[in-house]
Amino acid sequence: MISTEKLISIITAIAGTIQRSKDFLTELDMPIGDSDHGINLARGFQAVVAKLPTLADKDAGTILKNVGMTLVSTVGGASGPLYGTAFMKAGGAMGGKTELGLDDFLTMLNVAIECVKMRGKSTTGEQTMLDAMVPAFEAIRDTEGTDIARLQAGLTAAKAGVEATKGMIATKGRASYLGERSLGHQDPGATSFTLMLETIVNAVES
Ligand code: ADP
Ligand code: MG
Repeated sequence: MISTEKLISIITAIAGTIQRSKDFLTELDMPIGDSDHGINLARGFQAVVAKLPTLADKDAGTILKNVGMTLVSTVGGASGPLYGTAFMKAGGAMGGKTELGLDDFLTMLNVAIECVKMRGKSTTGEQTMLDAMVPAFEAIRDTEGTDIARLQAGLTAAKAGVEATKGMIATKGRASYLGERSLGHQDPGATSFTLMLETIVNAVES
């Protein structure tokens, strides 16, 4: 089980991953977008880290809702409202819990996916973050074994999903302006989601 203390350390680790991946994510956003995905997320997670000390004694739902609200108000672009509301809704689904298990993680991922689909009016196969989120969710749900084995299966599926975005034509977000020229490019949002998931898996393993 993940305590609220561990949850805060995982969120801090995600912020570190995003900071280190800022240039990479921004480079991915260059040919198909406006070169700001890494910059957007790094700014948001920096604000999240600044906020975390005030959340130390709060329940998991409150922590995640505050992370989401901070992302909504600081990230900008398409990904800010999408990631931000996904974290807010995921937090809302956890109520006042102070310990989270893998079933809770699956619930949150499911809620986050539904939120992105609704807000983004998007689905899988459109070269977006959903192309990593949905395969990850399905693999974790359908894999049998230990929590770690299931999370690792989710990460493997997310990475395959990122690869698969290269074979897709973007029909949502800025990349959709390129039409067929979006082919061959790896989606920045699918990549940032997978980096977040990788950080979570590493943190749960250690
Ligand atoms: P912007 O495109 O506004 O500059 P970002 O560069 O921060 O925003 O984020 C781009 C990412 O957001 C894309 O790579 C994609 O994964 C995701 N995205 C954009 N629009 C949608 C949408 N309608 N549904 C799901 N994800 C989306
Ligand atoms: Mg962009």
